[in-house]
Amino acid sequence: MSRIVYVNGEFVPEDEAKVSIFDRGFLFADGVYEVTSVLDGKLVDFEGHSRRLERSLGELNMAAPVTIDELLAIHRELIVRNDLQEGAIYLQVTRGADVDRDFVFPDPEKVPSSLVLFTQAKAVAESPAAKKGIRVISVDDQRWARRDIKTVQLLYPSMGKMMALAAGKDDAWMVEDGVVTEGTSNNAYIVKDRTIVTRQLSNAILHGITRAAVLRFAREAQMKVEERPFSIEEAQDADEAFITSASAFVMPVVEVDGESLGGGTPGPVATRLREIYIEESRKMAI
Ligand code: PLP
Repeated sequence: MSRIVYVNGEFVPEDEAKVSIFDRGFLFADGVYEVTSVLDGKLVDFEGHSRRLERSLGELNMAAPVTIDELLAIHRELIVRNDLQEGAIYLQVTRGADVDRDFVFPDPEKVPSSLVLFTQAKAVAESPAAKKGIRVISVDDQRWARRDIKTVQLLYPSMGKMMALAAGKDDAWMVEDGVVTEGTSNNAYIVKDRTIVTRQLSNAILHGITRAAVLRFAREAQMKVEERPFSIEEAQDADEAFITSASAFVMPVVEVDGESLGGGTPGPVATRLREIYIEESRKMAI
């Protein structure tokens, strides 16, 4: 069944949606995005995603195409028009389409930013991968230095994912200066002696919306959290590991660079945090 997508003010069937070949997202990866998960036909942490979007736009001096209230209305309209019960909504803002290809940013008064949204139906709560856990390899982090901005420059993360698949594994953790930054499209965690360890926020990683929620739930459940970098060797010696993202929620990691963790099955901390996250997200979704 064809989806109804949103493109610059209009809801149209996906095969009729068009953006210009001069769009700066296409030519320069001059765009930012958000992925908001949907549970029971409702948006999970819309406020967190819209706040991060505003921040990404601000860091790049890109004009917001619509207000946050309008954005919420567009998300809800897409859920209704596509009868989306579970999955995600992808949103992308680019600096629009200038009259030609030019490195200089166009005047936002003359060239409005462009806005595209579409739905992605997927069973996220009952994920078979979450029951088995995923296996990761390490790769060199070769991304640009402003990973705190959620830009559409995703070629290197995509290459990292391909390296993992070529190695017969599920995903990659990126390593810089001997320590893990994050996963290709997720934040990375290890658990040792019931302490959760994840890298502190900085420009080196994306400030995950799921990360913020999961760390809050962990602390509320009296779990100990340390925000600091960790190495692959420390991860291989951990009791368990997991990743978080809006599309994976909390996903157990059962192998790091060929070394199996916790007997190769999802650990109790990751399993419990996944349950809490899904339960609380269902309650708070709007
Ligand atoms: N880190 C990176 C590099 C990501 O691409 C993502 C999500 O796309 C995340 C972390 C997780 O962020 P969130 O929890 O907001 O989905």
